[in-house]
Amino acid sequence: MKAIAIFPKTHEVKLIDHEEPKITTPTQVKLRTLEVGVCGTDRKITSFQFGTPPAGYEYLVIGHEMLGEVVEVGSQVRDIKPGRGARLYDRVGGR
Ligand SMILES: [Zn+2]
Repeated sequence: MKAIAIFPKTHEVKLIDHEEPKITTPTQVKLRTLEVGVCGTDRKITSFQFGTPPAGYEYLVIGHEMLGEVVEVGSQVRDIKPGRGARLYDRVGGR
């Protein structure tokens, strides 16, 4: 899948091919991204003020405020079904 990622070591922001996420625990929900918003936090991340790649990666995929659709759920998820709309956002640092 295509993603916008930052590479902190080289101070680059690039369009990349990123492996499609997989359900790895029974309580996870997988979303298909429909729309992504850009906020002040993204501005700080893309100017390398902060943002740390996950363990094992040289880059951090941006897009933490998004509208999506549930495409898959873990075996223990009961109340959320594929096809349902979803909104993802964080409330930390986005001022
Ligand atoms: Zn934000």
